[in-house]
Amino acid sequence: MEEWTVKINRCAVKKEKPHTDQLEFGRVFTDHMFVMDYSEPLGWHDARIIPYQPLSIDPSAMIFHYGQSVFEGLKAYQTPEGEIQLFRPEKNLQRLNKSNDRLCIPAVDEAFILEALKQLIYLDKEWIPTAEGTSLYIRPFIISTEPYIGVAPSHQYKFVIILSPVGAYYKEGINPVKIAVENQYVRAVKGGTGEAKTGGNYASSLKAQEICAQKGFAQVLWLDGVEKKYIEEVGSMNVFFKINGKVYTPALNGSILEGVTRNSVIQLLQHWDIPVIEERISMEDLYQAYVDGNLEEAFGTGTAAVISPIGQLSWEGKDLIINDSQTGKLAKSLYTTLTNIQYGKEADPFNWVEKVSKAYAVKQ
Ligand SMILES: *Cc1c(COP(=O)(O)O)cnc(C)c1O
Repeated sequence: MEEWTVKINRCAVKKEKPHTDQLEFGRVFTDHMFVMDYSEPLGWHDARIIPYQPLSIDPSAMIFHYGQSVFEGLKAYQTPEGEIQLFRPEKNLQRLNKSNDRLCIPAVDEAFILEALKQLIYLDKEWIPTAEGTSLYIRPFIISTEPYIGVAPSHQYKFVIILSPVGAYYKEGINPVKIAVENQYVRAVKGGTGEAKTGGNYASSLKAQEICAQKGFAQVLWLDGVEKKYIEEVGSMNVFFKINGKVYTPALNGSILEGVTRNSVIQLLQHWDIPVIEERISMEDLYQAYVDGNLEEAFGTGTAAVISPIGQLSWEGKDLIINDSQTGKLAKSLYTTLTNIQYGKEADPFNWVEKVSKAYAVKQ
């Protein structure tokens, strides 16, 4: 890093904020954004917070042609005492650099970005909604901006952080969803980019999602890209199964994205002395557990929904109805404990929460 300060250019006029009960996911953005550029030989430089605005990018910029980009997703929460807190943000920044490495994008300074993020959040803190279950979604991303349409890693990049107030994911309580096991398309393969948070993984997932939605399913369950036998993820979430009192999740294998929520759920289960096993899980074995009456719960995990119970899994013409399509006890406990920690309503024995203190006001 050339510079360790973030220049701040405040907006002249603040935008109108949306009504809490009208918040959708990811449609409204706050007054400011963080931007930083990369070029050679400067490296990452010109870190700044500026009014939210369109980017001006050359049409030949590499991002438009070959998709060299990465992103992250995390949230800021307001506690009942009016404090602002983040949930394990250092994990997201570590993962950002892992994704950067896979996509040949130069690493960012994680500690500096965390400081810059806190300044941005503090500046736009009035945008953090306070109603039950609402939060401020944080979207950091990096795009390749070199004006060149040859295939190679870019020599220029832009790092941007935008913020979006989001509504409660579950307005009428947690509802289990119907999932189709995907037998034709695959999300990722070992050796590919499945472990990285990069737009291309999402682009390639849209077709399967579109088809399953037409058939009335909420998401697909992804199988491995080689044999299409082993369970990987559900939609863009990691997946867990409770079988005979033990909790199973697919082991990280090079094509599964390592979720921060996944890691937190595993730690919580261990803390509760519930056996949790990371291993390869075949769809056949899962079906057998179901037939034997041992499949007690299934749920996805991710930042947006935290816990998303699976009420039905459809696989090769068979419908697995899990826990009578009701939210399971374990899914509920995990959801309640994780969200209570995130919103500062419950003790945080793991030190997961990172406060955005009033000290950030002084820097401005
Ligand atoms: C982001 C993401 C997840 C969930 O990660 P969290 O850190 O828990 O939000 C899971 N799978 C995919 C493919 C993802 O992109």
